[in-house]
Amino acid sequence: MSSQEQSERTEIDELGEFGLIQHLTKNVELHNASTLQGIGDDAAVLDHLGKPIVVSTDLLLESIHFDLAYMPLKHLGYKSVVVNLSDIYAMNCLPTQVTVSIGVSNRFSVEALEEFYEGVLSACNAYGVDLIGGDTSSSLRGFVISVTAIGEGMPNKIVCRNTAQIGDLICVSGDLGAAYLGLLLLEREKKIYIENPKIQPDLEGQQYIIQRVLKPEARKEIVLLLEELNIVPTSMIDISDGLSSDLLHICTKSEKGCFIYEDKIPIHPDTKAFAYKLNLDPTACALSGGDDYELLFTIATSDYEKIKSHPHISVIGHIVEGDKKQLQTKSGNLYPLTAQGWK
Ligand code: ADP
Ligand code: MG
Repeated sequence: MSSQEQSERTEIDELGEFGLIQHLTKNVELHNASTLQGIGDDAAVLDHLGKPIVVSTDLLLESIHFDLAYMPLKHLGYKSVVVNLSDIYAMNCLPTQVTVSIGVSNRFSVEALEEFYEGVLSACNAYGVDLIGGDTSSSLRGFVISVTAIGEGMPNKIVCRNTAQIGDLICVSGDLGAAYLGLLLLEREKKIYIENPKIQPDLEGQQYIIQRVLKPEARKEIVLLLEELNIVPTSMIDISDGLSSDLLHICTKSEKGCFIYEDKIPIHPDTKAFAYKLNLDPTACALSGGDDYELLFTIATSDYEKIKSHPHISVIGHIVEGDKKQLQTKSGNLYPLTAQGWK
């Protein structure tokens, strides 16, 4: 390598996750008319004989995305599929197939991998998707999982991130922040266990937040509900990185701003209680914690009547003109929303 090439080293940190993806894919050219949409959304959109097909892929790495100290392999298999299906639902589509690829070291027995596959198949059964292939390789260290999900949508009903309009209402399904607090709880108990293996983990009364991290579900019923109510969201994304980061994706891609209200953000009572126990602000956990796999979407104000009293959908604010993204706190103060992302 010449000295000049050496001096041109750029650290990944300087770009961050999203900057890195953008940088690496800036020269991508699409060669096929059937590629309706490539990089940039929860899934790519392909044309299959007039019917839109969506494709999404995710990588899960041991010690980065999961810790086998408290993640049972069966749950890991289930979660690996579910997080990919979530990206398909986020396009307002229904998943139909998955491929599952794994890299494993001899640290894992056949029985252990059977457990993982029990979870994979359990998710396939629960969501009605077919496991149609994958790849298997050895890995020197750590368990590597890559899942690709394929889904089908209706023409004109595929929902992307970049189409939110001024005045649209911002909606979120379910509740937020629980998975992050569940993870903090499991991390805390792991640390205590490592220091003293005689102490049994104290998970009493925390079933909800633990279940949200160990056995997340994708929001199929929300996509079916929207269909039933005859609502096509104007934009949608699944919340994997925290409300703040994912709402900023919708705003940035749509070239709009947003205004949300702290007191409208849905947070489960168990999540709040555990956050207070750790001296954390539940709102901050909902904004910046990840792994919720709820759907975040915008709707035209004319659709408000159809969803306003639905128990699993909260309207948390609206899209505004310009690029200001703001949160109004319970006490009436305004804060700019910031993404934490991966950096
Ligand atoms: P999500 O959080 O929904 O999984 P990501 O933030 O990982 O989405 O990815 C954003 C977009 O960038 C997606 O369209 C994804 O397919 C694409 N992407 C991510 N990594 C790469 C890569 N290494 N090469 C090409 N495209 C990528
Ligand atoms: Mg996504």
